[in-house]
Amino acid sequence: MTSFQTRAVHAGLRPDPSYGSVIPPIHQTSTYRQSAVGEFVGDYDYARSANPTRSALEEALGALEGGSAVAFSSGLAAAHALLVHVMRSGDHMVLPADLYGGTFRLVDKVLVRWGLRYTLVDQTDLDALAAAIEPDTRVVWVETPTNPLLNVVDVRGAVERAAASAARPLVVVDNTFATPFNQRPLELGADAVVHSTTKYLGGHSDVVGGAVIAKEEALYEGMRFVQNAVGSVPGPFDSFLVHRGLRTLPLRMRAHAESAAAVSEFLRSAEGAAAGASDVRWPGFSGMVSFRHPDAVGIAQRTRLFTLAESLGGVESLIEVPQAMTHQSVEGSDAAVPADLVRLSCGVEEPADLVADLRAALAG
Ligand SMILES: *Cc1c(COP(=O)(O)O)cnc(C)c1O
Repeated sequence: MTSFQTRAVHAGLRPDPSYGSVIPPIHQTSTYRQSAVGEFVGDYDYARSANPTRSALEEALGALEGGSAVAFSSGLAAAHALLVHVMRSGDHMVLPADLYGGTFRLVDKVLVRWGLRYTLVDQTDLDALAAAIEPDTRVVWVETPTNPLLNVVDVRGAVERAAASAARPLVVVDNTFATPFNQRPLELGADAVVHSTTKYLGGHSDVVGGAVIAKEEALYEGMRFVQNAVGSVPGPFDSFLVHRGLRTLPLRMRAHAESAAAVSEFLRSAEGAAAGASDVRWPGFSGMVSFRHPDAVGIAQRTRLFTLAESLGGVESLIEVPQAMTHQSVEGSDAAVPADLVRLSCGVEEPADLVADLRAALAG
């Protein structure tokens, strides 16, 4: 098998057979001409069911994670599709105690109305994770690094604990923060990976999308069925944008990590500490950094290169205060985040410029 970087450039891309364009056209169509009743190319009969631009993206995502991918219109649509396929009323799932607020809202506000049950647990404690598995647990949902506290969970350990339980739940990993450049959960034994392709995979803050990548054929077929039956599909142009982003993923992830290393080093330095930064977190890969500061809101409003905005993973740096912005849905729950936490998405700008921007913002 070719290296990850080479796969990122080539996966899912075959020159167009009609004109030889190196990049295949965007199939902006809702339907396909049938040569006779019921006769059409592949499974292309209607574009909710299948679209060649989407198929190309799915092939590429599958090649990068090492499984079979199904694309969705957002990360949450992907999470929803997986959970409604795998779980029945009364079933239970294990969620991380700090997780993306939207995932928590989906489970806690929407799916519980259909009888789904959940337990929040600190998944860095594998004994606690194992203890949270009940006879009806169908899914252990892992997010690593977690959002926004950037805790790292041992995926292989979670897989072992799930396999050792009587319920033998599926282990699903939200790989949005790490990306397959840094971490490939299917290779570590997980059953499925979920992505918000809105973030690093798209990489340019210009598209919302999601995906599930399944290890086993049966789960893949189930996801394809829900994708068509529920219909939360990405459009052709959005599929094209995510696929284009994938081609530079390794280059971007290296640059994101370089920026995050410089920024976290500054925040952890004597100068950063003297300026009030504490509890600086960077897992050592990817571009997400968080820290605490008594003037979290003021800093987020003073940076000039770091744009005050939700989301992450684009080439441009962003800053936010999770408690007030992305994580309001966990407010008051066991998944609540501290009010003085600042989250940075370090982009691919010159790292020294990012450090200078933070230095000025911390100075007030
Ligand atoms: C953004 C995000 C999601 C949700 O994805 P959308 O594309 O916004 O629906 C899920 N998980 C994580 C870790 C995220 O950062």
